[in-house]
Amino acid sequence: MSYEAVLGFEVHIELATKSKMFCGCPADHFGKIPNTQTCPVCLGLPGALPVPNAKAIEWCIKLGLALNCRINLFSKFDRKNYFYPDLPKGYQISQYDQPFCISGFLDLDSGRRIYITRVHMEEDTGKLQHDSGQTLIDFNRSGVPLVEIVTDPDFKNIEEAVEFLKKVQLIIRCLEISSADMEKGSMRLEANISVRPTGQKELPKFKIEIKNLNSFRFVKKAVEYEINRQTDLLESGRTPVQETRGYNENTGQTFSQRSKEDAHDYRYFPEPDIPPFEFTKEQIDAWRQELPELPEFKKKLLMDKYQLSLSNAQIMSSNIDMYNLFIQTEKLGQYPAKMIADVLVNKRYSGTETPTSDELNAFLNQNSTAMAVDPEEILKVVQKVISQNPKAVSDFKSGKEQAVFFLIGQVKRDLKSADTQVILENIKKNIF
Ligand code: ZN
Ligand code: MN
Repeated sequence: MSYEAVLGFEVHIELATKSKMFCGCPADHFGKIPNTQTCPVCLGLPGALPVPNAKAIEWCIKLGLALNCRINLFSKFDRKNYFYPDLPKGYQISQYDQPFCISGFLDLDSGRRIYITRVHMEEDTGKLQHDSGQTLIDFNRSGVPLVEIVTDPDFKNIEEAVEFLKKVQLIIRCLEISSADMEKGSMRLEANISVRPTGQKELPKFKIEIKNLNSFRFVKKAVEYEINRQTDLLESGRTPVQETRGYNENTGQTFSQRSKEDAHDYRYFPEPDIPPFEFTKEQIDAWRQELPELPEFKKKLLMDKYQLSLSNAQIMSSNIDMYNLFIQTEKLGQYPAKMIADVLVNKRYSGTETPTSDELNAFLNQNSTAMAVDPEEILKVVQKVISQNPKAVSDFKSGKEQAVFFLIGQVKRDLKSADTQVILENIKKNIF
């Protein structure tokens, strides 16, 4: 019997707002002296009342819009109750049945659509530090705005998942709402995996969650390991236990942490200290208007308006700096879009590390002859000339050097401004 993975993800994003989610403490906690950015609210002291951060809510909803979600015009916060030392209130303020955003999707390059269950707002917890037999708690992170994106279990394999997660990361960076940096923990991933016999329609009765995945490489390894582990169990007639597992980077294995809670274990109920929200359609539309150009839009623009190839459009639309440099240099109006794109994508630029459009333009000024013709165009003409001149080609192959000058001349008849050296390289590559 063969097995297939049922794979979904939860992505937590720390927002880069100035202040925390429900108090005025700074939200930027990275590398700060422990417990210097706290107050009665984020320490969960009795009587302290939360006041929601309007900017964080706006950013959460904008992210939902960028992920093609429906925005709930009525929404509220709920308490998710559980005990853990990094959660001083004994509950996390999160969203349960009426999150800000639901039912979104994102398309992969293959055209496959991945559905997004929800995008909701919550608060981060404190940070535990295990230190020579003691556990220390840093509450600087407690109450930092956290957005959670939950996908449907739609991924056919881990490659699809990584492509999706990278796209999400890029969208977040385009929106400039978070650094989405996995090493620093501002983007944190949890995979939900279960394995079932290939072709089975219903979801397996168990679901295993893997936490602490802090790089795309580890996500890939952990998921692959977990799929094998569960497949082995099923093959030997056993059923994997529903649980939360960690990933050990050193051994490349996942390990059991605790049995996994069901939603009812959390005793969710509406947060009594924060009134529910009502948005108008006009408000949501106004936020939609404010969205920046997103990667998919950029890709289409590069292909339709600037006539770039799919692969160049893909590369440039997923690199914010490269894209901006391209647009600004093209605007100077001195060099064709294709030439600029080629220089950037194929890293033919040499000079300052992060050139301005003026610097790139100056570089093109000095090297335009060599850059003048699109390499795809050169290749096309070279191949044509080779197939039309078999005699010259066999002469060149048998060592007659002059024959190659004839071939170069033929190419130059079509492409006057192409660089001789580049043509020669292309001829050699296509003959030998
Ligand atoms: Zn605070
Ligand atoms: Mn969460």
